[in-house]
Amino acid sequence: TFITVEGVDGAGKSSHLDWLTQALQNIGKTVVLTREPGGTPLGEKLREMVLHEPMDLETETLIMFASRREHLARVILPALQAGDVVVSDRFTDATYAYQGGGRGVAFDKIEQLERWVQHDVQPDLTLLFDVPLEVAQARLAQGRAQLDKFEKESTDFFTKTRNAYLARAKAAPQRIAIIDSSQTLANTQQQIIDAVHARLGI
Ligand code: C5P
Repeated sequence: TFITVEGVDGAGKSSHLDWLTQALQNIGKTVVLTREPGGTPLGEKLREMVLHEPMDLETETLIMFASRREHLARVILPALQAGDVVVSDRFTDATYAYQGGGRGVAFDKIEQLERWVQHDVQPDLTLLFDVPLEVAQARLAQGRAQLDKFEKESTDFFTKTRNAYLARAKAAPQRIAIIDSSQTLANTQQQIIDAVHARLGI
């Protein structure tokens, strides 16, 4: 079972990743918690570059997919084959949202790379953490001392990124569950439980 967790910076996904992992372990699942960009030694080096160095937009997109290919080949696919649950902090929806929606890479180019890198591998469930923009930006402002280059982007960039995520959820409602994380912690956790139950039967 392959679960991905998405949302704009400050939407609150990080606070729920450990909790979700623990909840799945509590019902006897072996969970591999991983992230993108990153998730492998090479992927983590690529992450450092892509988050901190200025670069051409298409280079950025290709690095995201290079990191993803490595991640799939070395971590995700072997774990799925072993019957584990993989929980990835971001995956391809992030590329559609950030490089596509936010920065303007044509979606059909991303689609080509997706087919090339993933073949038919898709998450079974994607939890999309969503909050109004002001909430996300307020959380970011108080959360981290050092922002990476994406977190320093404009409100316009965040709006476009968020809208691209929401459009993807609308187009694939059976896979993508929108989690309204402006609610209380308990309420947000309940939404996660409901989404996992409804879409995966666990
Ligand atoms: O989720 P996390 O905060 O670790 O992501 C690191 C950064 O990478 C974020 O600022 C996110 O906006 C950015 N990112 C991106 N494109 C992706 C994946 C992540 O711009 N495809």
